[in-house]
Amino acid sequence: MVKKMAKIIVVEDNDLNLKLFCDLLAVKGHEVVVVQKGAEVYDTVCAQKPDLVMMDIQLKDDISGLEATKLLKSNMETAAIPVIVITAFAMKHDEERILSSGCDMYLFKPISIDAFFEAVDHFITPAIAQ
Ligand code: MN
Repeated sequence: MVKKMAKIIVVEDNDLNLKLFCDLLAVKGHEVVVVQKGAEVYDTVCAQKPDLVMMDIQLKDDISGLEATKLLKSNMETAAIPVIVITAFAMKHDEERILSSGCDMYLFKPISIDAFFEAVDHFITPAIAQ
């Protein structure tokens, strides 16, 4: 079965991580839209209508990835778009805070390539075989 190509917004302020995520998604044929500032997430998601958002938590900005996720999940127009939060906070006590943002899944950095693709594939609807 062929996977549908998807439009994916990658929110990431670190250039190396951004390049890695973009390269991995490009390998699968996905269209990637990059956002590097938390304050630009909501407007970009509204304008682009992506199939998936991958959201870094720590952004060099006054709006964190968790706040941006909360904003997306509290608006009818964007609430249904899945959000995968990506965080370096590999600590148990942060899980509750991460989940309270309304995100659909979270991954801890450093992310294995297998885990990355598994997470993306979970939200991308396979095309119906003709
Ligand atoms: Mn970051």
